[in-house]
Amino acid sequence: MKKHNYSAGPCILPQEVFEKSAQAILDFNNSGLSILEISHRSKDFVAVMDEARALVLELLGLEGKGYEVLFLGGGASMQFLMVPYNLMKVDGKAAYLDTGTWASSAIKEAKLFGETVVVASSKSENYNHIPKGYSVPADADYFHCTSNNTIFGTQMKSFPEVNVPLVCDMSSDIFSRVLDFSKFDLIYAGAQKNMGPAGATLVVVKTEILGKTGRTIPSMLDYQQHVSKESMYNTPPVFPVYASLLTLQWLKKLGGIAAIEKINEAKANLLYNEIDRNPLFKGTAAKDDRSNMNVTFLLNDEAHQEKFDSMWKAAGISGLAGHRSVGGYRASMYNALPIESVQVLVDVMKELENKI
Ligand code: PMP
Repeated sequence: MKKHNYSAGPCILPQEVFEKSAQAILDFNNSGLSILEISHRSKDFVAVMDEARALVLELLGLEGKGYEVLFLGGGASMQFLMVPYNLMKVDGKAAYLDTGTWASSAIKEAKLFGETVVVASSKSENYNHIPKGYSVPADADYFHCTSNNTIFGTQMKSFPEVNVPLVCDMSSDIFSRVLDFSKFDLIYAGAQKNMGPAGATLVVVKTEILGKTGRTIPSMLDYQQHVSKESMYNTPPVFPVYASLLTLQWLKKLGGIAAIEKINEAKANLLYNEIDRNPLFKGTAAKDDRSNMNVTFLLNDEAHQEKFDSMWKAAGISGLAGHRSVGGYRASMYNALPIESVQVLVDVMKELENKI
């Protein structure tokens, strides 16, 4: 039986992506070859890469606006260092918003390159909210933020107006909600939440911000090198790019980001309403900053943990344990998680209340 998969990532993908990926492993495009055994320079794969890059721009509404799309290796964590390498000037400085573990990992890497100003942090409150009312230095080379904090269940609902390049780690909420993506100069995201399997990292960059640092950048870490080779500077992660294309096609067919946003809001309302209504549970994130992707919550009385855990497992739910730094539970509700799965969880929460 297929589980209700609440994993924080890698995570659930659309069923049709699993099926088409499986088919392509056996026989890709009726070629008599597996997607795993073809050259990345073959006509068929170049077409996959071209379509995937174009579809990203189409879905984000960024066509013809000076952006390039890359699918790189190294995970989102590699972007923590590629961003400062490519954007922080020699003797320059960067500004960061510290909203969680991943933001602070990005800050750690930036510090290796130069002055790194943390404009605000919610660390002292275990990152339970998004700081507001900060200002970004006008002489920063860029401002970096994290749109969704996967571990702490918080999400930026608005982004500051800045006069410096705006860089955003959207690993855990890309393609999930409508934003004016043209406000951002560089967006990156590990594939393994809303886009595909682990192994590819999406970078969407406005090319006019590149090449201004005075640094000599090793080729593999240089966005301009990858842009000039249309994301084929070296062997790209062929299979993750293919599965990402299938997911992007699924999203387009569904009606794009505006359509999935409505579904994601319905899922989030369903679960948050139950957390707020049910006296056994409480949410951990500040209400205004609650994430529609990762819902973090606790039992008010840990004595019920064993019972609750056995009930949701029996209901076919998987991946609900919270991250060790927050404890409790985390329901990750990425694009491909159906609302029916959320209803199953809500029913279990109600059933627990009735039993106690
Ligand atoms: N940023 C965010 C917001 C994340 O959630 C994660 C991983 N869950 C990362 C960065 C790191 O991604 P990766 O493991 O691909 O390096």
